Amino acid sequence: MRKVTLIPGDGIGPEVIEAAVKCIEATGVSIEWERIDAGENALKKFGTPLPDEVIDSIRKNKVALKGPITTPIGSGFRSVNVALRKALDLYACVRPCKLYPGVRSKFRHVDLVVVRENTEDLYSGIEFAESRPETGEFIDFLKGRAEIRRDSAISLKVISRFASERIIRFAFKYALENKRKKVTVVHKANIMKYSDGLFLEVAREISKEFPNLEFEDRIVDNMCMQLVQKPELYDVIVAPNLYGDIISDLCAGLVGGLGMAPSANIGDEAAIFEPTHGSAPKYAGLNKVNPTAAILSGALMLRHIGENIAAQKLENAVASVISKGEHVTYDLKEDPADPTAVGTKEMAEAIIREMRRT
Ligand code: NAD
Repeated sequence: MRKVTLIPGDGIGPEVIEAAVKCIEATGVSIEWERIDAGENALKKFGTPLPDEVIDSIRKNKVALKGPITTPIGSGFRSVNVALRKALDLYACVRPCKLYPGVRSKFRHVDLVVVRENTEDLYSGIEFAESRPETGEFIDFLKGRAEIRRDSAISLKVISRFASERIIRFAFKYALENKRKKVTVVHKANIMKYSDGLFLEVAREISKEFPNLEFEDRIVDNMCMQLVQKPELYDVIVAPNLYGDIISDLCAGLVGGLGMAPSANIGDEAAIFEPTHGSAPKYAGLNKVNPTAAILSGALMLRHIGENIAAQKLENAVASVISKGEHVTYDLKEDPADPTAVGTKEMAEAIIREMRRT
């Protein structure tokens, strides 16, 4: 039996993860869940939001399904999510964005995948606060090359050849393995000639290793405009961390919002599957939110462990329930106040019934 680490998370996390677990189990794949707390519950029980046991469990099982975790504002730790990705070197964030019939959208066809570099860029955490002595030293160090106002705060953007090569190669391999046709690299190399320039240069080099895949590049501002005008032109998109972050939320918006967007954080040693959305505290415990993002994250997890038939069965059942539009949550209704909207649990039950029916 395959062991998988299960982190229910905070806020709406436990509800959507419970729904996903039930749906995954209904596919017939045999999984032993190793449940473990991270986030607010772990903080209460163990005094830390990320006990070592969490990372040990994921290292051992190599796969985790995770609910969203709240990042308290002004607390001592930055983000459990960022810490997990760093500790396990989960360098690729993969977010498929597919428009299922029945979801309200201005578009008819969206089926693209955003591959985001997860470890560096402006997320390296190298920051200098306004009016700190070290900020002054740094400003002095740059004198002669750049005049920076003394009341500045500074964040460094780091793009390495190593991280660019591995994410871009990941995107091309993903495209091949998933029978995709095109890879588009996103950058702003016209302005950031060295950092984004390196990302683009590496992409051009690596594209030559994959002659059967079409390759193109887009400047990030143009990419955003193109995505909201003609998303059907795009297939696999690969981007550095910040552009990838923004573009993947933009694309979630194209396919029905955060309740519809699954994600995978993948490294060479382990992978974590989780909905893109956060813990939405105001909806916690209400059995109200859409479980689709968590359930589709489960389908991505099934594919990752080689259970392709089960993954397809689950995805088909989700698509069918959404297209019928009857047993769906408020966000998938024409009017969010529609009294016929069902709860998180009931939508998951409808998906399970659909799987049993086919
Ligand atoms: P959020 O995604 O939690 O919620 C924003 C809004 O999106 C909600 O109010 C709701 O209207 C909608 N929404 C989210 N999930 C939905 C669902 N499943 N179905 C229907 N509608 C849904 O974003 P936020 O309020 O900015 O963040 C709340 C907390 O979550 C913060 O502490 C943040 O740091 C954390 N967060 C965690 C993760 C993660 O664990 N990976 C990701 C994002 C945010």
